[in-house]
Amino acid sequence: MRAIVVNRNGGPEVLEFTEREDPAPGPGEVLIDLAASGVNYIDVYFRTGSYPQPTPYVPGVEGAGTVAAVGEGVTGVAPGDRVAWQGVQGSYAQRAAVPADKVVPVPDDVSLEDAAASLLQGMTAHYLTHSTYAVQPGDTVLVHAAAGGMGLLLTQIAKLRGARVIGTVSTPEKERLAREAGADEVVGYDDFASEVRRLTGGEGVAVVYDGVGAATFDGSLDSLRPRGTLALYGAASGKVPPFDPQRLNAAGSVFLTRPNLAHHTLTRDELLERSSAVFTWVAKGEVRLHIGHRYDLADARRAHEDLEGRRTTGKLLLLP
Ligand code: NDP
Repeated sequence: MRAIVVNRNGGPEVLEFTEREDPAPGPGEVLIDLAASGVNYIDVYFRTGSYPQPTPYVPGVEGAGTVAAVGEGVTGVAPGDRVAWQGVQGSYAQRAAVPADKVVPVPDDVSLEDAAASLLQGMTAHYLTHSTYAVQPGDTVLVHAAAGGMGLLLTQIAKLRGARVIGTVSTPEKERLAREAGADEVVGYDDFASEVRRLTGGEGVAVVYDGVGAATFDGSLDSLRPRGTLALYGAASGKVPPFDPQRLNAAGSVFLTRPNLAHHTLTRDELLERSSAVFTWVAKGEVRLHIGHRYDLADARRAHEDLEGRRTTGKLLLLP
C-alpha cells in the first residue's frame, strides 16, 4: 500500500512517501480502507519530537473509510461498515489497523470525507464549548486562529450556543472566513487584549479558546473577565513557558486549564456521544465544514509546510 513513514524526528522533509505491506488486523483490531485522512497540528508535534513517539511510524491520528477485515474477538463492527477514528497513529496510508474500541460508526448522511474532516476537531470543539467551559447565551468568547480547522468549528459552535464571538486572524482572507462562520468581531493579533477590552466595554470575555500558545498566552490572560476561563488547548506558535499561579489571581481569580481530547473521550459511551453530536451537526448543516485543501497522500510534506507556514484555512485532508 501507499503510506507515509517517519524514520526520525525533524521538519516536514522527514515525511517519506513509501510503498509497504498492508497491515494485518491483530486481535481486537479492524482493518480500514481509508477514504481520507485528517491532518492535525498534533501530527507536527509528533513529527518534531515535541510529543514523544518512537520511530519509525506511520503518522496521522484521524481517518475515515470502510472496514476491510476484522481481527479475532471483534464484535459490533463488520466488513463493509463505514467508520472513522481518531487518536491512533497510522492514518497517512491507504490502510490502517485500529483497535475496534476506537472506531465510531459514520451515519449514512455524512460522507467519509466529511467524517475524516470533522471527527477529531469537532469532538475537541464539542468538549471545549460544552465541558471545559459550557458556553452560555450572551457570553462573549475569544477564539484564536478563528479561520483554522479548530477556529472555524469553535466559532460556529459558540454561535449555536448563543455567544458573541471575537476571533483573531492574520490575514484579510482569514477574516472573511471567520466572519462567514459567524464571528461577530475579528481582530488581528497586535495588542488583541486591548481590542477585546474595548469591544467588551472593559469587562473581558468569559472564555478564551487558545490553540496558538506562546505568542498569545499573556494577551489571553489579559482578555478575561473576572473568574473567566483560559482554555489553552494547543501550542501552534510554541509552548508556553513556566508560569507563576499568582498571575491567575492578578488576572481576576481566573481559571487556567490545558485540556486534551483523550481525557474527554475516556469511555466508549463518551466517545459515541461526542462523535454522534458532531456527525449530527454536520448532517443537519448546523456546522459547515470548510475543507481548505485536499492533498494527495504523497504530498503530506507540503501539507505540513503549509500548516506550519500559516498558509492554510479550515481542515486539511490527505487522499490515499
Ligand atoms: P489550524 O488550522 O488552527 O492551524 C494553525 C493556525 O494557528 C494557523 O493557521 C495560524 O492562524 C495560527 N498561528 C498563530 N501563530 C502561529 C505560528 N507561529 N505558527 C503556526 N500557526 C500559527 O490548526 P488545527 O486546527 O489543526 O489546530 C489548532 C490548535 O488546536 C493546535 O494548537 C492543536 O494542537 C490544537 N488542538 C488541540 C486539541 C486538544 O484536544 N487539546 C485537539 C485538536 C487540536 P493565523 O494565521 O490566523 O494566526
